[in-house]
Amino acid sequence: MDLGIKGKRALVCASSKGLGKGCAEALAGAGVDLVLNARGSDALEATAADLRARFGVEVVAVAADITTEDGRTAVLAAAGDVDILVTNAGGPPPGMWKDWSRDDFIKALDANMLTPIALMQAVLPGMMERGWGRVVNITSQSVKSPIPALGLSNAARTGLTGFVAGTSRQVAGSGVTINNLLPGIHATDRAISLDGGVAAKEGISMDEARARRFTTIPVGRYGTAQEFGATCAFMCSQHAGFMIGQNVLLDGGGVNATF
Ligand code: NAP
Repeated sequence: MDLGIKGKRALVCASSKGLGKGCAEALAGAGVDLVLNARGSDALEATAADLRARFGVEVVAVAADITTEDGRTAVLAAAGDVDILVTNAGGPPPGMWKDWSRDDFIKALDANMLTPIALMQAVLPGMMERGWGRVVNITSQSVKSPIPALGLSNAARTGLTGFVAGTSRQVAGSGVTINNLLPGIHATDRAISLDGGVAAKEGISMDEARARRFTTIPVGRYGTAQEFGATCAFMCSQHAGFMIGQNVLLDGGGVNATF
């Protein structure tokens, strides 16, 4: 399917690896020029070079922490007038509700709620003026079904979801769509680190930890960054102009719910 976005320009945050990289790759495959971001420059430059070589699109790489004001200023300055924004950042650490301090909550809210909101506030006016824009926020299945050990993520991402629900309807009339893409378990470094935590806590092998988690997913495996990226690219396409304020769950059936 021709996504109809060849020649558009996208900012994809936190995209040297994992789900962000999957989104960048799928957009590059659709002919979209990219601004990529991550904190570490080695993997970022390698990803940028790979996408340039494979897809012949322009790729600008900005090494910066997207959850800081300085980082966002540097990334937004390099990005300029983007048509597509994919927000993403690392997820908060696991833990227990009784252990988190106010500072822990502020850090999670900053990274997974206030950072995507600040990025949207920065790019939405230009998109609306030009009459076209696509925003996809990478959130989590925890928005639909809370994950007990990830209370910081449950809280911050649900706050972002409420903001998107209201704001998406306010900008839709200008040709701009905002939607959220909710990953269930995907085979990325993040999943490996969560499996490592379970293995250490339960005294089992990584394979055993992974096998146990597979049984919680009806598809019987983890999702891939490529599958995730393909869905993101569709949500950024010309075909998705009637999709507003939705929470698209990609979880292999893991969330047991009717809606
Ligand atoms: P990942 O494989 O660990 O990749 C994270 C990417 O983000 C890397 O490129 C990393 O590069 C970059 N990054 C992290 N923090 C950053 C920051 N502050 N500023 C800029 N770049 C940053 O993670 P993932 O699995 O793709 O997960 C992406 C998001 O989806 C996370 O918020 C995660 O919690 C959420 N999620 C993932 C899953 C899953 O199963 N994978 C499920 C639900 C939700 P640097 O480290 O060099 O900065």
